[in-house]
Amino acid sequence: MQQDLQFDVVIVGAGLPGLALCAALRRAQLSVALIEGRMPEWPVGSWDARVYAVSPSSAAFLESVGAWAHLDHARMQPLARIEVFGDRGARLDFSAFDVGVGELAWITESSLIARELWEGVKRQANATLLCPARPAKLAHERGRSRLTLEDGRTLDAALVVGADGVNSWVRSQVGLDARFTDYNELGVIANFHCEKPHLGCAWQWFRPDGVLAFLPLPDQHMSMVWSAPEARGRELLQHDAATLAIEVAAAGDHVLGALELVTPAAGFPLRLMQVPKVIAPGVALVGDAAHAIHPLSGHGVNLGFADVRVLAGVLADTDRSVLGDVRVLRRYERKRAEEVQALQLTTHALHELFRPAWPALAWLRNTGLNLTQGLPVLRNALVRYALG
Ligand SMILES: Cc1cc2nc3c(=O)[nH]c(=O)nc-3n(C[C@H](O)[C@H](O)[C@H](O)COP(=O)(O)OP(=O)(O)OC[C@H]3O[C@@H](n4cnc5c(N)ncnc54)[C@H](O)[C@@H]3O)c2cc1C
Repeated sequence: MQQDLQFDVVIVGAGLPGLALCAALRRAQLSVALIEGRMPEWPVGSWDARVYAVSPSSAAFLESVGAWAHLDHARMQPLARIEVFGDRGARLDFSAFDVGVGELAWITESSLIARELWEGVKRQANATLLCPARPAKLAHERGRSRLTLEDGRTLDAALVVGADGVNSWVRSQVGLDARFTDYNELGVIANFHCEKPHLGCAWQWFRPDGVLAFLPLPDQHMSMVWSAPEARGRELLQHDAATLAIEVAAAGDHVLGALELVTPAAGFPLRLMQVPKVIAPGVALVGDAAHAIHPLSGHGVNLGFADVRVLAGVLADTDRSVLGDVRVLRRYERKRAEEVQALQLTTHALHELFRPAWPALAWLRNTGLNLTQGLPVLRNALVRYALG
């Protein structure tokens, strides 16, 4: 008879939070299995369509797990300044200089971080990477979780971590409730080469047809995220490269001059997902399995890194025999609940305030932006909060 493979922690999903958790458990000397359904593919010679604003606290966490220093910094852009525009001429700006930090964030390709973490995990003595592999069954009995893979192998662990994204299999297996609010919008992303230098500045426009953001990338490139009503999003995705470049340049007030598309546009449906309970006996959720927010805050992946930092800290302080005990896991849940809820509510409220369908709020939202601009103390406090 086939024997169960024994681990302290099994992580399902090798997205950035799953990989980072595995790396963070290296020092805790727990035995870890990381299960991923898809073989990774890294873009060669081009820019990754998925680009993140990695906050200074996420960068510090990646440094602590040994990944940050090894990233190719020539492909990363320090963010010096952000300019935000309302739909009636209001304006707000933040700069790293004003708050006395080196940079507000690092604009970084997802695959750059993923590849470094992946290679590190492959070399990690206390980690076993099972890929491609998918779980088929999860049971919890007498303080242990038993995960059966589709290929028949069984894994026994004190704790199973669901890092398997917004449609989490782990979450559905243990019956944890997820509440979705559909924005009926598409997040359209694409990368461009720009005629004018961006000088490390990011721009965000609250427009009648959605929220448009330009994030600076090295070598005079920028990454666009346009959160557009569905019909408008589909229209953008159907454009040929030249038409899209002209339309995006015009929508962004030509701040970067003429644009040239370098990575084809892709679209994602946007949803708010709230998960009231992110733990169950022998199970914890991290990353998008535990929360999803509108990309206008640019913080999705930072929330995932913060989950992982806190969970790894709790596990490192716990005896390996009780890693899956709900009293232990509740410490993780409590520590994360406040920040996740606050960011979800603020981002959702901001999205609702700027909805084109509510023109009556135009005065309020634009006055709000201008007032914040006029109050440096409030403005800088907001930036410090965003820096984590
Ligand atoms: C349009 C858009 C723009 C965004 N922009 C930003 C931004 O600017 N800044 C930011 O911080 N965040 C942004 N985000 C959010 C960010 O992409 C996510 O927060 C982050 O990728 C979460 O990672 P995750 O690992 O939790 O989930 P995922 O990235 O979905 O990874 C889940 C992993 O689990 C694997 N998996 C799933 N199910 C199984 C299974 N049953 N068995 C085995 N493996 C499985 C998948 O293959 C995948 O590798 C954006 C998201 C969207 C949609």
